[in-house]
Amino acid sequence: MTDRILIIEDNAQNMYLMKFLLGKSGFDVVGADNGRSGIEMALTLRPAIVLLDIQLPGMDGYAVAAELRRHPELAHVPIVAVTSYAMAGDRESIMAAGATGYIEKPINPDTFVEEVGCYLHAAENRGE
Ligand code: MN
Repeated sequence: MTDRILIIEDNAQNMYLMKFLLGKSGFDVVGADNGRSGIEMALTLRPAIVLLDIQLPGMDGYAVAAELRRHPELAHVPIVAVTSYAMAGDRESIMAAGATGYIEKPINPDTFVEEVGCYLHAAENRGE
């Protein structure tokens, strides 16, 4: 089965790049440009992993991560923050909100798919 990846990102260029890189690698990629519709998509489409921007209009990434974790059926889905916030405190905040890890922006096209794959395989190895 092809792994489905949900990207929640409001920046069209970043969304395009992530979709392009992951799609080219054979993933089934779906996207939402705001947190609320991203949560709806996570519940209905059951992605294998969620890539989450922090700075989103309205509901920010911290709130989205926390809400995703409140749904038992999504409790084990890896949430990877994709963020230009390089500060340790921000990383701690998003991890505390329920994220599994983070990937730094700007996205590096040479390593991005591999980084996402690491989080996916880690989850699969735990039987999730
Ligand atoms: Mn953003």
